[in-house]
Amino acid sequence: MTVSIWQADGAQPVREVDFLIVGAGLVGCAAAWFAAQAGRTVVITEARDLALGASSRNVGFMITGLDSYYHQTAERFGAAAAREIWALSRATHAHWRRWAQAGGVQLDECGSLRLAESAAEARDLEQAARALEADGLPVEYLSSDPLGRGYHAAIRQPQDAAVQPYALVRAIYEQSGAELVANNEVYHTAQDGDTALVYTRQTVFRARHALLCVNAYAPLLDPYFVGKIIPTRGQCLATAPLPGGPVIGTCGYSDYGSMYYRDTFDGRLLIGGGRKQNVALEDNTTEDRVTEPVQRVLEDYLRARFPDISAPIERRWSGIMGFSADGLPLVGTLPGRPRVGFAVGFHGHGLALGAETAARAVDLLLTGADPGVLNAARLAG
Ligand SMILES: Cc1cc2nc3c(=O)[nH]c(=O)nc-3n(C[C@H](O)[C@H](O)[C@H](O)COP(=O)(O)OP(=O)(O)OC[C@H]3O[C@@H](n4cnc5c(N)ncnc54)[C@H](O)[C@@H]3O)c2cc1C
Repeated sequence: MTVSIWQADGAQPVREVDFLIVGAGLVGCAAAWFAAQAGRTVVITEARDLALGASSRNVGFMITGLDSYYHQTAERFGAAAAREIWALSRATHAHWRRWAQAGGVQLDECGSLRLAESAAEARDLEQAARALEADGLPVEYLSSDPLGRGYHAAIRQPQDAAVQPYALVRAIYEQSGAELVANNEVYHTAQDGDTALVYTRQTVFRARHALLCVNAYAPLLDPYFVGKIIPTRGQCLATAPLPGGPVIGTCGYSDYGSMYYRDTFDGRLLIGGGRKQNVALEDNTTEDRVTEPVQRVLEDYLRARFPDISAPIERRWSGIMGFSADGLPLVGTLPGRPRVGFAVGFHGHGLALGAETAARAVDLLLTGADPGVLNAARLAG
């Protein structure tokens, strides 16, 4: 997004606020709740309206961990970091459950199945299960396909769940008590002494603290994020309600996380993914649209794995994810602007890591606490 001199003409009124959050998705609303708990008065400014980014377009899987398998995470980031990420994920899920329960949000305690599309993936799944067991994490390795649909093996994580994600964001926002200023895009941030300056379409905010929760859109807002956050499109389709009722009964996830499928609360089959085969088309874009090659992959998958389903496809949609350069979210403050923090880069896993990441970002701004494995300083430059 660029801003013309006519839009940013300096005529906007100045407004003093205490704690300003930019972006009203899952992460921004969770951050609002934590900042309010810490006694701050919170305003959220949002370019569109509540949860109209990825947070209302995702599949609603509350899966513990990352898309990479546990042993691979330990190899990449170290064993202590893998344990920290899984603990962060479980803490995140505890927050979602509490907010969902208080807000009457649909949440199905259905667990998840990571399924193997090949014998090689089955070996990786077994290794992941052994590594999880060794660290005392609840997991079950199944050497045959529990769904009877041609998969090679599976890991069952009984503690995982499926949620109505849009309703969840609305519930968190309501429980946060924050004020939302919708239709108010941020153009630019700066710092004046101890005050964060946030220039928006309607207002120039002067805030004691500002926190950017704009995920995929971060590189459009500040050059610091270029190369660190890669906007990446994710796509889905959903069938009409199935006459025979649910077909999976869990969060199904395969091909190293590149395909995913669930029953919806109104009895449809939802399938997402298909990006891996279309990386050049789907990466590095903030365009919210469906593309024919990805939708073809999803339909082919539906026919191959679920040949018993003949219900028509009733909806197709997309959302923009914020992939990070190393697969982990980034928490920090902008160079030269210690009052402007950020919590971005959820790598298609905001429901796995979002709430606790938001808590750490709020803590960093208010107390200077180290965000641990999420500390953006790990990515130099
Ligand atoms: C198809 C799909 C399926 C997914 N499935 C899952 C899943 O099953 N499980 C899971 O854990 N994750 C999943 N995800 C990822 C998950 O949706 C995201 O990780 C999560 O929503 C990120 O939340 P957020 O609040 O950081 O970002 P967003 O929800 O994108 O919110 C960012 C907000 O910032 C606003 N904004 C941007 N720029 C500005 C600006 N300059 N000024 C003001 N506001 C601005 C945007 O309008 C937006 O509302 C999926 C994503 C997609 C697209």
